[in-house]
Formats: sequence, structure tokens, C-alpha cells
Amino acid sequence: MSGLFKLAILLVLLVFACSLVFLGFNFLEKVPNFIDSKDVRNCPKLSGRIVSNKDSSYNKDRLGANYYASKKKFPAVIVYCQNTQDVQNAVLYAKCKKLPIRIRSGGHNHEGYSTGDGVVLIDVSEMKGLKLDTTTNTATIEPGINNLELYSQLFKQGLTHVGGTCSEVGLSGLALSGGMGPLLRKEGLTCDTLISVDMVAASGEVIHATKDNEHKDLLWALCGGGAGNFGVVTSMEIKVYPATDVTWFNIGWNWDQPIEQVIGAWLDFYMKPDSKNWFSHLDIWAKPFPAEKQKKQPVKALGVFWGTPEEAREQLSHLLSIGKPQIEKLELVKWDEAIKLFEDSTAVFLTEIPEYKSSGAFVMDQLPPEATKIIVNALRESTSPYFNVLFEPMGGAISDIPPSNTAFFYRDAKFFINYTSQWLNENEDQKQKAELEGLRDRLLPYTVGDYVGNPDPDLKDYLTAYYGDNVDQLKQVKCKYDPENIFQFEQSIPPGSGCK
Ligand SMILES: Cc1cc2nc3c(=O)[nH]c(=O)nc-3n(C[C@H](O)[C@H](O)[C@H](O)COP(=O)(O)OP(=O)(O)OC[C@H]3O[C@@H](n4cnc5c(N)ncnc54)[C@H](O)[C@@H]3O)c2cc1C
Repeated sequence: MSGLFKLAILLVLLVFACSLVFLGFNFLEKVPNFIDSKDVRNCPKLSGRIVSNKDSSYNKDRLGANYYASKKKFPAVIVYCQNTQDVQNAVLYAKCKKLPIRIRSGGHNHEGYSTGDGVVLIDVSEMKGLKLDTTTNTATIEPGINNLELYSQLFKQGLTHVGGTCSEVGLSGLALSGGMGPLLRKEGLTCDTLISVDMVAASGEVIHATKDNEHKDLLWALCGGGAGNFGVVTSMEIKVYPATDVTWFNIGWNWDQPIEQVIGAWLDFYMKPDSKNWFSHLDIWAKPFPAEKQKKQPVKALGVFWGTPEEAREQLSHLLSIGKPQIEKLELVKWDEAIKLFEDSTAVFLTEIPEYKSSGAFVMDQLPPEATKIIVNALRESTSPYFNVLFEPMGGAISDIPPSNTAFFYRDAKFFINYTSQWLNENEDQKQKAELEGLRDRLLPYTVGDYVGNPDPDLKDYLTAYYGDNVDQLKQVKCKYDPENIFQFEQSIPPGSGCK
């Protein structure tokens, strides 16, 4: 072989190897390594605990609590902010680099809207400060605290917050979506307990919004329309309440029982002139939940009553008389135990990595028997054993506030229905999603809208679905605080027209 020929082969091999390396980098590192050591554009520096795709923990850190929603998303950088300054730096950095932003707290967004490809992920989950003022029953919390952490810390002082039933949901994501939980009929939504909020806006400045200062429009918008839309909330001042003992109830039936009657009786019970002393989930699974040790009944009314077990039994006598409940528990418990029982009795994820879809809708009036029949038939015929319909009563304190008083619009609803489905193989995605959407569609004559905390990418007009008649005002607020639409995601609120 001549020297020249050898050289030519060597050159070809070199070009080939270079292409492989180049392609390999692009394949393995979907995200470019953009954190420049020498910042030619003189952008502000990131601060906080920074994780990039060069770090071994990146693949764990990029996933939200909901694996299925975040598994295919690769942020450019994850900034675990430790304080407000870190948040400000991250916002200004992303703007300067023209990189999209996402905000994450508890990471529970059902569709993974708190992360994305190539984004600067501003994660506030390590900001967990809490200052409690027991003279005024108010607490100032940082945005990374989650439900369980706040319940536990407040309970030590005999107090509680208006939170949800899932321990790891972030308080900021919860409050900014609205926040429905056991105290909703007594005290309203989580966001109804907001006194003031600090938020890092698109400009990088910190805005303090109260109900009556110059930023009252922002506080209005943050109550039910604030998740990811206007800026990064860094602190929330909330009202807290005495944590009293309650009667916990868990009444469960199998599918061989008259389930349509059970649903009808539960709906009738919660349609009665509002009793602020009752809260419940009616949790209906297509099949018994396959977690043997949990012995979960497929159909169960779980809840709390501010009164004695004897009073509860008497008032629930009609529901208890239907068929033969396989579980019938009514007991007086401490408040923190009730919260734990909600968590323990509500099956959530099948495995750590299920395929999943969720959606929701509000019921503005009594649900007629034909609608109940549609639900029961859909669950009986479901091809997914993990199809779930969960009813939550509304009314009480939520409806004491008019729908236009905050961004949370569906205050006059009687019930919220949460649809979820889980399955194990990605190749069943289309089929299982269609089954869930099919049920949602068949119930549209009896339901309206959806809760933004249960986002659904298949909604035709997501803005109206989530915010009803409050959409225009939300767009105006967006225009004022984020005219360039820095804070955007798949279903975010766009700025109003004429906005610069
Ligand atoms: C298992 C489970 C149980 C649930 N239980 C309840 C319940 O009992 N009651 C109820 O009402 N809802 C419930 N939800 C819905 C839940 O309230 C919403 O998904 C909520 O938005 C999640 O908040 P997060 O901080 O955990 O999630 P994330 O995914 O971190 O955030 C959710 C949204 O809020 C935005 N966000 C988060 N932090 C901030 C911040 N500091 N500033 C600005 N925007 C921010 C994110 O960008 C994203 O758009 C539940 C969801 C799941 C998955």
C-alpha cells in the first residue's frame, strides 16, 4: 500500500470518527452545553445549586414527581434556588440567553408543564422556610414547602393550613392552581387563604402583592391562574386554622354491590344545603386496586366530619344502608392522622413509572341518574384495570366568594370530577387515553370546564376550560406583569391583545 493511499484511508477514518463523535454528542446530549465558562454576552451568572447534563444526578433531577410526564423532557439546566436572589439571577440569565423558563416546586403537574426541553428549570423545592405567627394565625412560607411538611410543622402548634390530600404536592403549585382539600367547605380554596405574595416578575424585580395594594390585580390572578404564568412566587403569607379532632370515615363497597345507588346517595348527601362540616372523596376504581396489602375497596367514600362518629353514622345512615359495605370505619382521630389516612387510603400510582392520563370537569348542578349510569358502565367495561373516577364535593366556603373575585372561576360548582387512568405499556397510550377522553366527552352534557390542577392537553379551548369568564382579565394581568410572555408553557395564559 502506498504512503499516499494509507494517508487517504487515515483521513477518511478520521472524518468518520469525528462525525461519530459529533453525532454521538448530539444524540447523548440532546441539550447543548450552554453554561459558558467565559460569558461573551455578559449575562448575569446563575447562582444556587446548579445541575446540568454534565452532572451524574441530571437524569434523576430532570424528572418531576410524575415520571410519565417528564421522562421525555431534557432541561438545559436545573437551578435549585436557595433564595430570592437565585430566582432573580435565573430569570435574568434565561432572558439574556433567550432560553425558555419553566418553574417547578413539588413537580406534580400531571402533564409535566413544570419542565421542558432546553429550558432553564427554576426549581424552588429547596426553599422551605416557614415563619409562623400564632398571635395572628398567619404563616409566611417559602415556595418549596409541600403539603405534608406544612401539615406536620403546623400541627405541632395545633394548627393547619387549607391544603390538599397528597403529601408531596408543592404548596405553591397547589395554591396558584386554586387548591382543593378537606377544608374547602369550611374555609375555601388554598388560594383563598393568601394574604400576600412575593413574586419575581419577568423584569427580575420582586413584586409584593396584597389584596389592596397597587398589585391587587396580581393577587387576583394568582388565586387559581398563577401556576407558571406570571412569574416565580418566592413567598406566600397565608392564614392558618386550628387543627381539631375529626371523625374519619371510610366506607367501601365491591362492584357486586348496587354501585349506582351508592353514587346517587353520595351525590344527594353533598347536594343538601351546604354543610361546611363535611368533606369527602367518592373514589371509584374500575377494579380493586392491585395493592394487596392495602386492601383497597374499588368504590369508597372517604372523608372527614367535624363532629362525633355517632352523629356521622346517623347522618350517613342512608348511604350506609345501601348494599353491604365491605368496609365501614367511622372513628374519631387527630387531625394529622386524618390527613395520613387520606393519603394511605387513596391509591395513586401503580408503579413508580406508570403510563398515565388525568383530566377533570366541574358539575354545576345535581348529576342525573343517566350520567351516573354512563360512569358505571364505562368503569365496568374499561379495558384498563386502573381507570378511576373521583368525585369531590364543592360548595360551602368556596361558593361564598363570587366567580369574578379571583381567577378561580368555577366557584358555584357542586362537584369536581377527576378522571385518571394508568397502564403499563407505552404502546397502549393511544387506546387508554381515548378511553378516558371518551368518558369525559360522554359526560360533557352534564359537566363544564376543567381544574387547571388537572390539566388536559386534549381540551379544545383550554383557557375557557380552566378560567371561564375570567380569561380576558387574566390576559390583561399577563400584559401588565409579563408583556413579552417570558413565562410560557404548553397551556399558559398569553398576554392580551395590544400588549407590548
Ligand atoms: C398525586 C397528586 C395529588 C394531587 N392532589 C391534589 C389535591 O388534593 N388538591 C388539589 O387541589 N390538587 C391536587 N393535585 C393537583 C396539584 O395541585 C397540581 O398539580 C399542582 O399544581 C402541583 O403543584 P406542584 O408544585 O407539586 O407541581 P409543579 O409541577 O412543580 O408545579 C405545578 C405548576 O405550578 C407552577 N409553579 C410551581 N411553583 C411555582 C412558583 N413558585 N411560582 C410560580 N409558578 C409555580 C409550575 O410551573 C406548574 O405550572 C394533585 C396532583 C397529583 C399529581
